[in-house]
Amino acid sequence: MSAQPVSKIVIVGGGTAGWMAAAGLSRVLAGPRAPTITLVESEAIGTVGVGEATIPQIIGFNKLLGLDENEFVRETHATYKLGIEFVDWLRPGHSYIHPFGTYGLDMLGIEFHHFWLRGRELGDATELDAYSIAAAAGAAGKFYWPQSNNPKSPLSKLAYAFQFDASRYARFLRKRAEQQGVVREEGKVVEVMQDAESGFVTGVRLEDNRLIEGELFLDCSGFRSLLLGQALDVPFEDWSKWLPCDRAVAVPCTLAGEHQPLTRSTARPAGWQWRIPLQHRIGNGHVYSSAHMDQEAATDLLLANLDGDPLAEPNHLRFTAGHRERFWDRNVIGLGLASGFLEPLESTAIHLVQSSIARLLAYFPTTAFGGAEIDRFNAETAREYLDIRDFLVLHYKASERDDSEFWRYFRHLDPPEGLAEKIELFRSSGRVIREHEELFTEASWLAVMAGQGIEPQSYHPVAALLDDAETLQRLDHIRQVVAHAVSQMPTQDHFLAQQGSAI
Ligand code: FAD
Repeated sequence: MSAQPVSKIVIVGGGTAGWMAAAGLSRVLAGPRAPTITLVESEAIGTVGVGEATIPQIIGFNKLLGLDENEFVRETHATYKLGIEFVDWLRPGHSYIHPFGTYGLDMLGIEFHHFWLRGRELGDATELDAYSIAAAAGAAGKFYWPQSNNPKSPLSKLAYAFQFDASRYARFLRKRAEQQGVVREEGKVVEVMQDAESGFVTGVRLEDNRLIEGELFLDCSGFRSLLLGQALDVPFEDWSKWLPCDRAVAVPCTLAGEHQPLTRSTARPAGWQWRIPLQHRIGNGHVYSSAHMDQEAATDLLLANLDGDPLAEPNHLRFTAGHRERFWDRNVIGLGLASGFLEPLESTAIHLVQSSIARLLAYFPTTAFGGAEIDRFNAETAREYLDIRDFLVLHYKASERDDSEFWRYFRHLDPPEGLAEKIELFRSSGRVIREHEELFTEASWLAVMAGQGIEPQSYHPVAALLDDAETLQRLDHIRQVVAHAVSQMPTQDHFLAQQGSAI
């Protein structure tokens, strides 16, 4: 019998992952023969309730959904984000920004930062941040849209993302998904039905005995991983050796003053603290290693370092860095926390949901569930996790900190192979490589390698071909162009008001 297109999709879980999948799939899989999509969620269980900072790729997802950006910003109480400020990560008292977008201008056909390195050799000690429009605007509290179709404008070098209220985002997506035909079933899944021979999932039974049957199941049940982890027993690949943080405590607080378009990450003795300014409040959290700090001390440290008054009781979360060995097993695909987790140091979790949805659409199955597509889906997703893991480990490994047991652990940790090569290449020649279209660009690797104090011993020889005075003068000119462009930009508050997206 020839394979049929999948006609019944069941999404288990209505957190960010579940509603992103519901909204994305119902938008793309449209038409008279589109599969039905049912989403099951339990209000009694609730969602993880954190996850507020994103990366620029989310703009593509919003476009796919056909969202109006101003409406989206208003509804989710979002602010714009131009990068992440890393405080005390290299050593206490030091900070740098990992900005979105690129640095400087390409000169003589090579990357700008080689001229920056040359300038340092000639005595110009200006930090890299001064050559990034996103870093300079972020630090000044300014925002304007990138001018990508005007390559002459310094604003063409800008990219941005959002910081939003995760529960408002899920509600916003729910509304759209339901308008696009997704059926929501409220109830707690108590049993996963499987075919006795193949182990394929055939349905989920709810507490009130209702049975929701389907052909393709998306496990968006959060850390519980009801289908992929529990029913199909797919093992978890544990990466705590590389990323030992395994707890977080989160608390929102009041916001006073201007909205800075930056997420802040401040290194702490056993982890780090996030600060995410939204329009109506600040999201805060402390990610830490339970082997190096207990819950009470971690909570006290967080509460002692808020910029406003707490607005809720602290929310405690446990996790293990890593992912399920297979993201797609038989007719179940895990999305979001059900499939894996990497600490939110570079705000990548929502992106991982988005990229898995895109991949699912690329390899969308028939009821035959071809093995080759599944293998490909799994290999690509695993690669993406690995690339992000290495980028996160870089932040810890390159730090000079040795003021606590936690930080000393990284001094003795051998970096993963691919990361070791990247660090060595940058250290020896200032070269930055980006492989197989990995998520983080050369500019991102550069931002963190330079920000974390890795000093290149050399640079691209072409950067030494210019006259010394001209090199310094060109660098100065670029800094002036960046500073001038930032001076012309509105503050983020002004911009939100202008767009009608302020709450
Ligand atoms: P959840 O939000 O946990 O949703 C699970 C859903 O499954 C819920 O609807 C629940 O009701 C349902 N469910 C579970 N069991 C059952 C059952 N038996 N029956 C019926 N329904 C059930 N991501 C970012 O991109 N940026 C960040 O800054 C960021 N910060 C984070 C900080 C921390 C500490 C953590 C832990 C995560 C962070 N994330 C961040 C990740 C982000 O929160 C999640 O990736 C995202 O919210 C997806 O969550 P989820 O939908 O997979 O799971």
